[in-house]
Amino acid sequence: MSQQKFPSLFVSHGSPMLAVDAVQPAHGFLRNLGATLPRPEAILVISAHWETAAPRVTGAMHLDTIHDFYGFPASLYELRYPAPGKHDLAKEVTHLLGPAAGVDLVRGLDHGAWVPLLLMYPQHDIPVLQLSLQTSLGPAHHLKIGDALNPLREQGVLIIGSGGATHNLREYFHPAGDQQPYEDFAAWLHEVLTRRDRDALLDYRRRAPQAARNHPTEEHFLPLFVALGAGGVQAKRLHHSFDRTLCMDAYIFDD
Ligand code: ZN
Repeated sequence: MSQQKFPSLFVSHGSPMLAVDAVQPAHGFLRNLGATLPRPEAILVISAHWETAAPRVTGAMHLDTIHDFYGFPASLYELRYPAPGKHDLAKEVTHLLGPAAGVDLVRGLDHGAWVPLLLMYPQHDIPVLQLSLQTSLGPAHHLKIGDALNPLREQGVLIIGSGGATHNLREYFHPAGDQQPYEDFAAWLHEVLTRRDRDALLDYRRRAPQAARNHPTEEHFLPLFVALGAGGVQAKRLHHSFDRTLCMDAYIFDD
């Protein structure tokens, strides 16, 4: 068992096409990312695409690949990420999160979880768990969840928040032609993370430039708060690129 304290990560998963679109800079970045980290004992992913009233963590020993997207090329629906689960770790996660949390023995991995993992760890031989979001409870709740998960770093668990640094899908499909609001939000995010300003982040809907336009709904931003709470105190941007209006930035939270 590794005793090394693991960092946590926030990655932007963008469109499901990221899995196969090697032209995208974020595709190449994620393909190289796994090899830059020590090998984890297990991976815990918080994706934007699983929302429940109270925290749920996958506890199945074999995780199904959920193709939760529509109208994409057939090749995407053939992709599988048959990672093993880890039931005892799922129990431990619920213990850390308190009595409202529970284990889901059926749920598999949605594309917010398996697309980045397929690129980072294509061998799918590391046990994976996914943890759900409670979108209506907002940033502070998710930061608290991250804080509660922080002890897992000492057990070699890699915690990954998978969402989007910006996520306006309407303007992704119908571009307004102005990239500036997305650039401005990404720059603000980089600045507040670098100076570790949790208060500004928690209040991002008021303080960040055009927050509601960058995140019309919050679910793609909330995994960032889990990663922030779960990791070390230093935030470093590992990747910066755009897929149209979707900012594909990634951060590592290390000591
Ligand atoms: Zn998504």
